[in-house]
Amino acid sequence: MSNNPNVTGPAPAGKAKLSLRRAEHPQPTDGAAPWPVLVVDDDPDVHSMTRVLLRDFSFQGKGFEVISAMSGTEARAVLACRQDIPVMLLDVVMETPDAGLSLIRHVRDDLGNRRLAIVLRTGQPGEAPERDVMLAYDINDYRSKTELTAQKLFTSLIGGLRSWIHLSTIEAMASTLERRVTERTCQLDEARRFAESLVELLPNPLWFKDPDGSLRLYNRAFREMFAVGPEDWHGMPAAAVLPHPLADLDQQADDGLSRGGQGGMSFETSLDRADGTRTLVVSKGMVRSDCRGTPDEPMGTIGIVTDITERKRMESQLRHLATTDDLTGCLNRRAFFVTAEQELERSGRYGGSVSVLMIDIDHFKQVNDRFGHAVGDRALKAATAAIRANLREIDSFGRLGGEEFAAMLPETSLAGALLVAERLRQAVAAIDLPLGEGQPPLRITASLGVAERTSEASGLDQILARADTALYRAKAAGRNRVLT
Ligand code: GH3
Ligand code: MG
Ligand code: MG
Repeated sequence: MSNNPNVTGPAPAGKAKLSLRRAEHPQPTDGAAPWPVLVVDDDPDVHSMTRVLLRDFSFQGKGFEVISAMSGTEARAVLACRQDIPVMLLDVVMETPDAGLSLIRHVRDDLGNRRLAIVLRTGQPGEAPERDVMLAYDINDYRSKTELTAQKLFTSLIGGLRSWIHLSTIEAMASTLERRVTERTCQLDEARRFAESLVELLPNPLWFKDPDGSLRLYNRAFREMFAVGPEDWHGMPAAAVLPHPLADLDQQADDGLSRGGQGGMSFETSLDRADGTRTLVVSKGMVRSDCRGTPDEPMGTIGIVTDITERKRMESQLRHLATTDDLTGCLNRRAFFVTAEQELERSGRYGGSVSVLMIDIDHFKQVNDRFGHAVGDRALKAATAAIRANLREIDSFGRLGGEEFAAMLPETSLAGALLVAERLRQAVAAIDLPLGEGQPPLRITASLGVAERTSEASGLDQILARADTALYRAKAAGRNRVLT
């Protein structure tokens, strides 16, 4: 006897493990719908006998409901509208000698139902299906009708039910898994499309290069900047697509990144185009992946270009505005002091001589008073041009204010500076500023003070002060002259 509480009544040892039990009347169904069992047989007795045998039994708290089909054709009609039938007890010979086997083929091949457990029952032992048919059509069991004892029928039924339950569970899990894979694939696809649109719309040219140096991704701005044209450059070596010298610098940056450069790096380069030379800053970063077996394995590098041409132009414009005197175009006071200090420091290191000139236009107030401020401005511009034309590229020249200018002459001794100053005086005195019909041209003169850096007067302020004193004396001595 079995100890299994689910098995009551006499049961042969070894079969007691079935969770099948003979129920008391009425059969305990726990209120759940009974297991449908499709009996397909052209012998009405088989149906009534099966019904009797199944009446008192239950499996997992549910009884059995016999659905009868008297032919293969009837069975097809039932199976067409009921997918919930777990077991079919099937006769082989019915309206035709192979009606049963043909129904099996229909179930497996046409309906695609692999879950339905099929128990073949034949009247004749000789009608047993071939082994390969049993295998090919997943026939779960074969019984001769003479074997239709209760116990054997239950054994077959329970085997079939278990197989149906397992297959149903697996199918449910597979479909859940499939749904989740579909969902994830859809989400990944969405994320990929989002990233692609973002990259495509980015105003900065961008590209992604794999570790072999082949282009894997680039955007519209990239195509526009590098005039790549309509060709598809995916998979092409980036070095063949990117212009030079950008391509070489890009490869050098990638080499640096793959040598372990953390974070990113950037470099500046220029690009010659039909519409002019552009200045570009290229930012580079390594993209790594943990999905390929090795943690942090390099997937490739991203390059992103910022065109700083405009910024550079504005910077230089601002620098120009900040350092240039509006009216005359020479250095303004602050820029002259900065430049002169730098020059003084530089020539101090090399021990060369440096001289300074202070230049002041004579009686300039009278020019304004007699001819107006606009003419005064023109005279200042003309004086600036005349002075500049007589200085070297390395000399610093600035307007300190009003009609007062200063020049610093590197590598120039006092004697040399005096010669230069005399040349400047003559150049200013030679200016003929046309004043208009019937008027003689305006002539101006300038006085100049000259000083050389000495060990006693080595700072800029000191040298300028000495030049200023000399200038004052030149004024006092009658103007239009050079004094030290
Ligand atoms: P001195 O020979 O002693 O140097 O006499 P000066 O008249 O040149 O000197 P002063 O310093 O008395 O006058 C300088 C004049 O320069 C006064 C001012 O009206 C004029 N001035 C200063 N800046 C400008 C300018 O930007 N444009 C014009 N047109 N005149 C200016
Ligand atoms: Mg003056
Ligand atoms: Mg003055």
